Amino acid sequence: MVSLSEFETIATYFESPSLAPVATGVVLGIGDDGAVLDVPAGRQLVVAADTLVEGIHFPIDCSPEWIGFRALGVNLSDMAAMGADPRWYTLCITSPQLDPAWLEGFCRGLAKAAAASAVCLVGGDTTRGPLTISVQILGLVAAGRALRRAGARPGDGIYVTGCLGDAAAGLAVLQAGEARDGQFEALLQRFSHPRARLREGALIRDVATSCIDISDGLLADLGHICEQSAVAAHVSLDALPLSPALQAWAGDRALDYATGGGDDYELCFTLPAAVQRELEQAFQAEGLQLTRIGEMVAGTGVHCFDAHGAPQDFARSGYEHFR
Ligand code: ADP
Ligand code: MG
Repeated sequence: MVSLSEFETIATYFESPSLAPVATGVVLGIGDDGAVLDVPAGRQLVVAADTLVEGIHFPIDCSPEWIGFRALGVNLSDMAAMGADPRWYTLCITSPQLDPAWLEGFCRGLAKAAAASAVCLVGGDTTRGPLTISVQILGLVAAGRALRRAGARPGDGIYVTGCLGDAAAGLAVLQAGEARDGQFEALLQRFSHPRARLREGALIRDVATSCIDISDGLLADLGHICEQSAVAAHVSLDALPLSPALQAWAGDRALDYATGGGDDYELCFTLPAAVQRELEQAFQAEGLQLTRIGEMVAGTGVHCFDAHGAPQDFARSGYEHFR
């Protein structure tokens, strides 16, 4: 296996125009001791970071393309959840060797994840060691308009984008070594290629009262909104959006995946009654999936109910199964 030097790697792969096709606001990018970026007047910087460690956040010998896609995808999802427009990112990569084939696949994954947005690579660090990828992302919001976990109020509707539980089922498909045909391949894709809901985040940013992206499972993440907003959530289990693929694969365990499965990177947010219809229409007009799954009420905690309104005990720790 060929191993490149740190400098060859940066020049050939990370400085490549494919990772900075649009470089809005970049005064100085890769090549100096630091990047220089322009923040337009009236906008604020939103900063987030996520680290992926081999064997913990992705399987050993995972495809480099998946790792690249995922490393940037989960950071883009944090921007979506804040209602921010992603602009720039840095990449800190630690790897046992710098192999051209691996780097090509990895950069292809990064470029694919970036394709839906105007984000570009502006710097980073390259070191030798156990495979670990750390991305820091920077985005912009109109001053004072970032979406937060705090702000939900009793009476607000609870909404989610997309379908829930697919990514956790995809990971289970992978771990079980199931035949990867048809529908199950679709579940696997949901795990390996998390699509940040950036357009959805932009549609809700001026009207949602709170928002979070679902990385640890619906009940756990909705629980964070409840804690930070000091309200309780009532969730209708029969309203949860389940994909046909999840239902086919998980059968009567589909709800366990939808309530407890992590890694979906869908958005969960709250809308006051006055804006719900308008938002539902805006999503429909763009062909984006949106589902009302319950309502905020006074109190604490997340409470689930079946179709007859009977309380159901779905432990918030459900996601532990998938860790
Ligand atoms: P320094 O020693 O001053 O930290 P480096 O030699 O580590 O600089 O990096 C040289 C340039 O290459 C810097 O602009 C840095 O941001 C960039 N760089 C290094 N590694 C990466 C990477 N993995 N991705 C993007 N840019 C990188
Ligand atoms: Mg330096």
